[in-house]
Amino acid sequence: MSQSVNLFTHAPIVPNRFIAEVNGISIHLKREDLLHPEVSGNKFRKLKYNIAEAISQKREILLTFGGAYSNHIAATAAAGKISGLKTIGVIRGEELGKDLEKTLQENPTLRFAHVCGMRFHFISRSDYRQKTSEAFIEELHEKFGNFYLVPEGGTNELAIKGCEEILLQGDAEFDVISCAVGTGGTISGIINSSAEHQQILGFPALKGDFLKSEIERFSKKSNWELIPNYHFGGYAKVDRELIEFMNDFRSNYGVLLDPVYTGKMMYGIFHLARKGYFLKNTRILAIHTGGLQGISGMNEVLKMKNLPPILT
Ligand SMILES: *Cc1c(COP(=O)(O)O)cnc(C)c1O
Repeated sequence: MSQSVNLFTHAPIVPNRFIAEVNGISIHLKREDLLHPEVSGNKFRKLKYNIAEAISQKREILLTFGGAYSNHIAATAAAGKISGLKTIGVIRGEELGKDLEKTLQENPTLRFAHVCGMRFHFISRSDYRQKTSEAFIEELHEKFGNFYLVPEGGTNELAIKGCEEILLQGDAEFDVISCAVGTGGTISGIINSSAEHQQILGFPALKGDFLKSEIERFSKKSNWELIPNYHFGGYAKVDRELIEFMNDFRSNYGVLLDPVYTGKMMYGIFHLARKGYFLKNTRILAIHTGGLQGISGMNEVLKMKNLPPILT
């Protein structure tokens, strides 16, 4: 194995940033997107102890799962490159493997992962649904050897341990902590390290009510709630209003949001603040979980739908 460097011991501490006062509510941002240029936001937190575990088990390969624009795929590919581990991405969408050149040309996420050295295994949507079955994982082991498996979205016990490091001691001054929710790993870590008086609000980026039980499985407290009405139609769905909100946010505060997660969460926070959901003088800390690598891929999709681009 090549020399490994532990990028995770060099996590900078990024100060919280005041964004706006809306209807007597003050909104601050924790810029986890600034942790690392390639392993961004919550994916940095989620990979930290998994990579350490893979190295201590002397595995040379990380294998994980994701969609074609997945932040987790991009982050795992980069983290593998930096840590001296090979990476295999099992990607949803058999058709993407038919002409790899074309796929790489069209898809900035997979192009980035490819340049980091990730090897792809493209599978059908129905096979993809098997991704947690023992037989399917056994097959992957026969094909790819003794890899360390990181689940889709990176969520497992070690990922949650990493996400417990998002909140710092000084953050106890906030009344509300908010974050976007995909698999629920990030919010579970945040809940675990929150103070009793704090309310944790999660904004699911997708439809469905399976998330609540996932979070209950990983977190020990009950000071949290999911706000289900800001998914904009489902995972990776966007509309003109969301894009305009994100572009205004960028020009007002100089911060980019991503269209799949943080844009929707921030839209939700502003919307709730304006309609009087929070008590006066509430102090909110919204977690910017990163994901900015997904903007260019989304802009390709928006072009085809005749929607305006997300400005960068
Ligand atoms: C993956 C991701 C999330 C969702 O995190 P979970 O731990 O899966 O809930 C949120 N925000 C961004 C930017 C992400 O990339």
